[in-house]
Amino acid sequence: MDKKTFSELKKKLEQERTLLEKDLLKFADKDKKISNDYDTRFPNFGGRSSAPDEDAKEVEIYENLLAVEYALELRLKEVNEALEKIKKDNYGHCEICKKDIKLDRLKANSAAKTCIACNNKNKPQEK
Ligand SMILES: [Zn+2]
Repeated sequence: MDKKTFSELKKKLEQERTLLEKDLLKFADKDKKISNDYDTRFPNFGGRSSAPDEDAKEVEIYENLLAVEYALELRLKEVNEALEKIKKDNYGHCEICKKDIKLDRLKANSAAKTCIACNNKNKPQEK
């Protein structure tokens, strides 16, 4: 991989990390004890009397936020791992077959851990 492409991908990852952290902080607090862990704040509409249906709505929103938090955290983890690999000069190699990951794939997903062939063989556990 040439230097220019490499630094472009690195920049993309760093930007994505910033965006993900920003998105997370909109509704979650950073856990001070565990790095890269976020805790979703429980929404509080601030109703004077806690009406049961308002509470139910809060719980519903909270559960939705937890799902979003999970997805964002997962992606943040991948992005951080990719950045870690860049630091260790081990970026762009498939974790399974160790071959270089095609540039097209890295451009589409700069945090990709595997090449397309291995990815197809090892379909991630989709929910
Ligand atoms: Zn592979």
